Amino acid sequence: MIVDCHAHLVPPDLLAAIRNDAARFPNVRQIEDGGSLAFAFAGRKPTRPVSKPLSDIPARLAWMSKQGIDRQVVGGWVDMFGYELPGAEAEAWSRLANDCLHSAAKSEPHLVPLATVPLGDGARAAGVLKAAMAAGFPGAMIGTLPRGVGSRLDDADLDPFWQAADETGAIIHIHPSFDAGDARVSVRMHVLLEPRDVDDALVRTGSAKGPGRNAAVPGAVRRNEF
Ligand SMILES: [Zn+2]
Repeated sequence: MIVDCHAHLVPPDLLAAIRNDAARFPNVRQIEDGGSLAFAFAGRKPTRPVSKPLSDIPARLAWMSKQGIDRQVVGGWVDMFGYELPGAEAEAWSRLANDCLHSAAKSEPHLVPLATVPLGDGARAAGVLKAAMAAGFPGAMIGTLPRGVGSRLDDADLDPFWQAADETGAIIHIHPSFDAGDARVSVRMHVLLEPRDVDDALVRTGSAKGPGRNAAVPGAVRRNEF
């Protein structure tokens, strides 16, 4: 079986739900852009608009078939993970995304979904990950910057999340944060620095602050190959 292990999906139902549920997300500014949507989270600079290929499931399946790909592992779109949102809103945003991703993958078994979690809050991220695993997700895709520039995946606040990953056997796909304003992840040096960013996150998360800390990580993380 040929598996494409790194892809992203923004189900059309998610975009529709976001448009319909705008009142639930007061800190998400929706920016209509030629039939698509861009977002600005908590007053930050806007994301790129969601591109058509991210949401066009029939076109993706046709492409997979042409390439001989049997399964595609799909996370959400990193730009719209919304880690900057306040706790309860960030959790609701993640749960909505997961509901839509889960239902898209359920109706199309060629797609294997990875959940998103509100990584700005370790306890909430743990709760959302456990719910996603109970729903049938095999794991989650996370960005390298849980709380913006300079934040780290070995911050103590995230211990509950890593513990939940260990307890549930979740696969965690660590994805570079794109255009985050962090010197480690310069857009101009996208290709060169992004792998370093993930390596840095893995090394710190697995070994920082002494043996035993985040002991879950070696079993829970699969490195993103570039
Ligand atoms: Zn990616």
